[in-house]
Amino acid sequence: MRIYNSHFPPFDLSVARCSVFDYVFSSPVPGHKVAFIDGTNGSRRVTRDGLKEMCLSLAYGLRNNLEKMGAHPLHRGDVVMIFSPNSLEYPVMLLAAAAAGIRVTLANAAYTPKELAYQYKDSTAMHVFVDPVVLPVLLETLTSLGVSDKDVQRRVVLMAFSDRIDEKFKDWIKLDDLIGTEKAERAAFDGMQSNTTLFLPYSSGTSGLPKGVETTHFNVNSLVTVVSPSEICESDIILAVLPFFHIYGLVQILMFNVFRGATTIILPRFDLNNFCNAIEKFHITFAYVVPPILVLLATHPLVEKFDFSSLRLFFSGAAPLSADTALRAQTRLRARGGNVLIMQGYGLTETSPTSHMMITWAITTKAGSVGRLLPNLQTRLICEDEETDVEPGQPGELWIKGPTVMRQVSSAWGHEHISFVNRGYWRNEKATRASITPDGWFKTGDIAVVDQDGFYFIVDRKKELIKYKGFQVPPAELEGLLLSHPQVEDAAVIGLMSKAEATELPRGYIVPKGGLSSLDTHAQSQLAIEIQEWVKSKVAYHKQLRGGVVCIDIIPKSASGKILRRVLRDMAVQEAEAI
Ligand code: AMP
Repeated sequence: MRIYNSHFPPFDLSVARCSVFDYVFSSPVPGHKVAFIDGTNGSRRVTRDGLKEMCLSLAYGLRNNLEKMGAHPLHRGDVVMIFSPNSLEYPVMLLAAAAAGIRVTLANAAYTPKELAYQYKDSTAMHVFVDPVVLPVLLETLTSLGVSDKDVQRRVVLMAFSDRIDEKFKDWIKLDDLIGTEKAERAAFDGMQSNTTLFLPYSSGTSGLPKGVETTHFNVNSLVTVVSPSEICESDIILAVLPFFHIYGLVQILMFNVFRGATTIILPRFDLNNFCNAIEKFHITFAYVVPPILVLLATHPLVEKFDFSSLRLFFSGAAPLSADTALRAQTRLRARGGNVLIMQGYGLTETSPTSHMMITWAITTKAGSVGRLLPNLQTRLICEDEETDVEPGQPGELWIKGPTVMRQVSSAWGHEHISFVNRGYWRNEKATRASITPDGWFKTGDIAVVDQDGFYFIVDRKKELIKYKGFQVPPAELEGLLLSHPQVEDAAVIGLMSKAEATELPRGYIVPKGGLSSLDTHAQSQLAIEIQEWVKSKVAYHKQLRGGVVCIDIIPKSASGKILRRVLRDMAVQEAEAI
């Protein structure tokens, strides 16, 4: 076995064995420090002390007042769903749930009723905390699941304070209704209890449909501890535009910033003008981004209107950032004032998320690298056979072990017997077994190389997953949908890289019913267009087949029936080059 350890000295994580609520508020940050500001108007804001008080009152309300308001009661360990774009209320609800001992599953705010219904059922959530802007989608979802109108009222809470809700919502339970003068005794998760699941973000992992990733109190506390090389400090003003339902926004931005005591400016979604405006208006020092945002900053004329001199760092994650894009964005922004640095990190939902992070002194010398392994983590790089370690300097599948890997049953790794029951992926033992070895190595599905200085480069992806602008697009889900179309015999979906947009574009291959030869070229392209539009009408924004639809005579498959995605990806590259 060839194990690579982190270059950083390990942290003593025994202090992280408590609830997330206790841990993030344990750092010595003055209570009057502003924790969050609603970036859409700037006047809605909450201090650290205010946040803590509000979360404890809400935690009390969640456990004691829901039933009094006519809703179903909530008990320690129950799962609730949050369905909302970013808002000031989001971190309040998350930390209140942590204090109340309630688990939270986080749904993509762009989901269609069908996508939402899948996660709602799979996560076993009953209550949904919903932003009024997406309430109609939720109502359609609950109706499609056969929930009666009366029962809907008992399951739904508007995740908004009254100051931003209009009259027409007066009959719904709102967050303020649950907040009273009483404060909760917060639920303790000390010692091994810190291995209890707190968050259930959804990820498709290496294959198949999205699965709940059991992210424990200890996972989150460990992450916010070990990720410290990013140098965020109390005086930083952070722009949070990446979605909080994704682990990057949830843990790396929200939980980490509360722990560090930085002030976080929240925007509901990315819009270039609002993004640049917020940087100038709030004197942002640090922003978390994804590569397509950097492409826009490098190229869009709008950028010329703004002052970026307050910025010191852009941290990019969730998808590959090329050295060229980073350099172009950095050069352009520096021309607008300041001395911003752009660096990237790497991680997955299953590693809570960040496992690798660039180091400022190496940005130029190790361009394109995702950085070094964070403290307390170990890796291996494995051959195709899924057993042998590759030779030093060779590419191999990245396996990771450590305290931030999704739910572990023990505090030690690698020695003790590990039970696969209820561990890793939520209620999905088969997927858990396929992705974590019995001695605790998590298989990322990414192909990496590590150099002699401990810098990692992600060179390929072995797993099925497609990422559109940092959002997960599980091919299995789109393939299932395509197969339900009456004119489709067989289907496969792969990602086609667009350098211009710095993202993959999902591209569908279909075999028409009756075979390819049953249609002439014109009919084939008509069918491709029709199917692209049909998919668009059925899925969330990020899952649309923007890479096109192509009719072929057969989907290439292995003897065991597995889609040969590599063959399709090579075909896609050739087809794109031929245009
Ligand atoms: P998610 O679970 O949605 O965070 O997706 C994790 C996946 O995103 C990883 O397994 C990688 O395939 C990809 N990813 C995240 N960060 C990077 C990066 N810096 N470079 C390359 N791929 C990345």
